[in-house]
Amino acid sequence: MSLGYAEKLSYIEDVGKVGMTEYFDPPHVLQEKVERLAMLLKKSKHLVVFTGAGISTSCGIPDFRGPKGIWTLQREGKALPEASLPFHRAMPSLTHMALVELERAGILKFVISQNVDGLHLRSGIPREKLAELHGNSFMETCSSCGIEYLRDFEVETIGLKETSRRCSDNKCGARLKDTVLDWEDALPKKEMNLAEKHCRMADVVLCLGTSLQITPACNLPLKSLRGGGKIVIVNLQKTPKDKKASLVIHGLVDKVILGAMDVLNMQIPPFVRIDLFQIILTEALSIDKKYVNWTLRVASVHGQKAPLPFIKSVEVSFLDSQDYKAAILDKEPFQLKRRTLQTKSFEMVLKFNFSDGCGCSSTEINIPIDFQVPADCFRLDRDAIFQKLRETAIQDSCCGQNAVIEKKTILSPNSEVTVYAIITNIVRYNKTSKSTEADSLSNGDVKRRIDRENGTETSRKRSKGRKRKSKF
Ligand SMILES: [Zn+2]
Ligand SMILES: [Zn+2]
Repeated sequence: MSLGYAEKLSYIEDVGKVGMTEYFDPPHVLQEKVERLAMLLKKSKHLVVFTGAGISTSCGIPDFRGPKGIWTLQREGKALPEASLPFHRAMPSLTHMALVELERAGILKFVISQNVDGLHLRSGIPREKLAELHGNSFMETCSSCGIEYLRDFEVETIGLKETSRRCSDNKCGARLKDTVLDWEDALPKKEMNLAEKHCRMADVVLCLGTSLQITPACNLPLKSLRGGGKIVIVNLQKTPKDKKASLVIHGLVDKVILGAMDVLNMQIPPFVRIDLFQIILTEALSIDKKYVNWTLRVASVHGQKAPLPFIKSVEVSFLDSQDYKAAILDKEPFQLKRRTLQTKSFEMVLKFNFSDGCGCSSTEINIPIDFQVPADCFRLDRDAIFQKLRETAIQDSCCGQNAVIEKKTILSPNSEVTVYAIITNIVRYNKTSKSTEADSLSNGDVKRRIDRENGTETSRKRSKGRKRKSKF
């Protein structure tokens, strides 16, 4: 059974206590508050950010409490909002990426999230600087050895139950469990302890898009007060902790954060998503040894039965081999069986059609095949390859760039396994050559920025905006 994410998340908050009226600070007040926030961030020695559903609303993930939030609609018996993208393709918001930049700049020390969408990890916040208090829909863990597995598909259960996969550590092999809490589950101790420790150390706890109503998580920011720390709350609704805060900003989180980044003269980095898949070529010689019966399979790296949600279909064709018939693999498992002459080498072209994402529709990968040459096995430096792929994707402003990161052979059945890394999404937040899903979902500021890039603002500001750190 697969749960919709609205159901998955429904454990998070109690519908009864909803205070859903939204407040917006008038523009001049907002501007002054944004500048105060920027100064607090600049001077901060140990910034902790505490996030809730409100920072993911521009990612195509509906909010819970606003007038069009899940709870409100549910209570009024109305239909729940359709997500503009499937959950597994949700993209980080401008705010998620701004946090990544603040972390890289050494300002942000720790992120505490109540969201289960996994977008902080996806966006690039290091695992050790993140506490996901309610779990992560894409994460499973081994309860025996503790290894965490971040998947590209939604894990099928919630409530810390066993999933259908096992730990891939050879010495372990224990059953994996999901990480998303159900109503009765206590908050994870390890994450809570870390979160608490960082809140005690914090001189600023910035609460973004959370109504601060779920205990005990909502009391974490208060831990900073004893050591002289300050609380800043950015949220459209009032919260029960407003009285304890040094600064309360009623505005859209993306808008406030973009404003603060502007004041700090910091850029919001593009989001680049890399996914992995493997091509498995299994071969068996015919009895007369003249032919090879082979099977090509495009599969997930997460195990034989795992889904491959970012690929919609694979079109197979053959270069310079008109006698080999083309094929369309349009459902999982993506698999093609053929019988060809053992002595004849050929080249296959695989056209990958992507499922919903940033707008890039497909990419092609060429695969030369020669059954007479044994495969060479290797394992390359992943991080170096990822880095290079990111750089090219940012330069090209489109997806599909790919590279082999590993090749291995299996003896029985006799197979060659090639692992690929592929860019499946790129989103820019402050400069764009083409419209992306995230742009159209964000509030007006993204457009304002594009106009600025196009030259409607002064050159002083433009050159300021161009200053980039070469982080990628
Ligand atoms: Zn294990
Ligand atoms: Zn794309």
